Amino acid sequence: MASSSGKIVILSGPSGVGKTSICQKLLERPARAKSTSATTRPPRPGEIDGVDYHFLSREEFEKRLRAGWFAEHAEVHAHLYGTPRHPLEDALQQGVTFLLDIDVQGAERIRQRYPGVLSIFILPPSTEALEKRLRGRRTDSPGVVERRLARARAEIARQDEFDYRVVNDRLERVVREIEDILERPRPGEQNTSCRA
Ligand code: 5GP
Repeated sequence: MASSSGKIVILSGPSGVGKTSICQKLLERPARAKSTSATTRPPRPGEIDGVDYHFLSREEFEKRLRAGWFAEHAEVHAHLYGTPRHPLEDALQQGVTFLLDIDVQGAERIRQRYPGVLSIFILPPSTEALEKRLRGRRTDSPGVVERRLARARAEIARQDEFDYRVVNDRLERVVREIEDILERPRPGEQNTSCRA
């Protein structure tokens, strides 16, 4: 594959930390796009197929997996999630900054496969704040909230694997901090071609 000028930016962090709102703000600038993951998780109320996620049956997901359709995939909360490979590689070719909202396992696989990736871990101001947010999200049952909290703790324990860690204390502030990070020149930035 020819070298390219696009950039992959991974935004990871526990469920409920505010990644969706941060991504929306970052997408207000030109030459940026966001990956739409595929998942076997059922849609939450208000989620739209093809916009929030590509909602697939497990059978369809596994078929695409075998066909090499994903740049990475992971099992999260007993559901499969994956980053479609073609949109990501097209974005790199076209010089687009491509945002990935994926978990820590996916981040690890993308780093191995695509050199020059920038990875940012988003932290809640405190675990109490995260708990409050997850409990306030009335679409999930108490059991689901407990599982998400346990997983959040495990994800936070891996924050040192990321290039940068930012705290989502206020949306406008954290977005400014991420914009500053995106403007910094990175060694090897021109070398984002696929390693696989
Ligand atoms: P949710 O079900 O709350 O939308 O997402 C659960 C977790 O799955 C989040 O941490 C999110 O970042 C992660 N996730 C979403 N899409 C992908 C993906 O394509 N790959 C991986 N590895 N994780 C994903």
